[in-house]
Amino acid sequence: MDTVFSMKQFDDLIAIRSSKGRVVGFHTKNLEIARLSEQAWEQGLKLNEVRAWNSQQKSKELSSFETDDNCEESADETQKQSHKPLNYQVRALSINVTQICNLHCTYCAAGGDGSYGDPVKKIAVDKTLPQIQFFMGKLSPGDEFRLTFLGGEPLLYPEAILLLAEYAQEFAAVRQIKTQFVVVTNGTQFTERNIEILDKIKANITISLDGPPEVNDLLRPNRAGFGVTHSIIAGLRSLLDQKKQSKKNIGSVGISGVFGSKNMNLEKAYRFYSEFPVQWFDFTYDHLETREQVNWEFTQELLHVGALAFAKGGEQELRRIKIFDQYFQVFDSQKINNNYCGAGKTFLMVDARNQIYTCPWVVGDSKEVVGQGTTLFQEKLSGYSQDLIVQNNCQNCWASAICGGGCMYIHKNKTGDKHQVDPNFCSRTRELIATSLLYYEESRGLSTQVQEVIEGEQILG
Ligand code: SF4
Ligand code: SF4
Repeated sequence: MDTVFSMKQFDDLIAIRSSKGRVVGFHTKNLEIARLSEQAWEQGLKLNEVRAWNSQQKSKELSSFETDDNCEESADETQKQSHKPLNYQVRALSINVTQICNLHCTYCAAGGDGSYGDPVKKIAVDKTLPQIQFFMGKLSPGDEFRLTFLGGEPLLYPEAILLLAEYAQEFAAVRQIKTQFVVVTNGTQFTERNIEILDKIKANITISLDGPPEVNDLLRPNRAGFGVTHSIIAGLRSLLDQKKQSKKNIGSVGISGVFGSKNMNLEKAYRFYSEFPVQWFDFTYDHLETREQVNWEFTQELLHVGALAFAKGGEQELRRIKIFDQYFQVFDSQKINNNYCGAGKTFLMVDARNQIYTCPWVVGDSKEVVGQGTTLFQEKLSGYSQDLIVQNNCQNCWASAICGGGCMYIHKNKTGDKHQVDPNFCSRTRELIATSLLYYEESRGLSTQVQEVIEGEQILG
């Protein structure tokens, strides 16, 4: 396992030395990555010399991604788009189709029972359709729009998912907008009828599962306190079998688990997840955990799992872990990420009473409501118009172009202020990014090309 051993910063250049002595350079402004010589590490690099790396400086666009559990506003949909807060061109909308749940997860951030303190059984579809029309109506031909169905447990109200998705599909066909649907589910409701609905809308599916039955049963029991993991596994296998036989038009399927002091065995979860032919896994850190030691342990566990994946199948297997894939996407695109997420810019959240928020995790907090129905409260939304890197004072962080200023919800949970960064989040993020840079350089063989430059003494003075 080749890990980050030490780091140096030379102006806009970061040099990372691995435990095996490899030195990888990262340019914090244009996001170039390259293998460096030992000499470079010892003597330091000069900025103008680093330009010898750059085949071509690519144009920098704004982008965003997120790494959170039920917050499904991810890199692939928002990365290419400029944020246009004043027009509210929302490209990703999450909807709580219900605010009840059949499970009772020990760490549930949705009021402890999926209700956010307001157990609404069914969203009013007739009030939600105009909201979809309102947001999609602001988009242009060729734009992408993603609708994510959340809860509670969204598959407890599958009829709403179907009606809302079909409406969005029809609207998109007329306007030539590309749609994508995501369902985030606890995996207990894969009935034949529900699989048919997921098939009809070509849903991408995120299944929340914290590990094998002996772990998941304790953390995610049903309302009566009993484990249901065996039935989740049976449902998931049936879903994946049908997908494999190409009987169903289901999109990507991934597993997402929550980890923290009550569940720190990421390796066990990784080995369990690997038994399923799913496209990706996500190891999410418990949003409410604030202790430094727990953060450190989680980071080491995640790095360990990354090393196992890389040893098993190189870049491809490593990138099945969502966070590594997100970083690789940014490295590939060389586009600066000014916003960790699009909350309040390109992303909004609708609760089961059609109130609008900027983030799934603030549902139920009346101070955080930024709209109702098709009325947006401009004054409140104007607080989200600035890039997070600036608003969160991240300009001096070497990792800011990759991180994008972090999750406002996590920051607030630790510091009391959305824009005051959580130091635990930062140390975790920077360590993961530094390690990802080592993997990236190793996977792409960036050494050959740069070695020639070094031999020609173009880099070192
Ligand atoms: S790691 Fe922390 S300081 Fe750096 S960009 Fe992210 S949130 Fe900001
Ligand atoms: S602020 Fe909310 S929407 Fe943004 S990443 Fe955090 S949880 Fe997701």
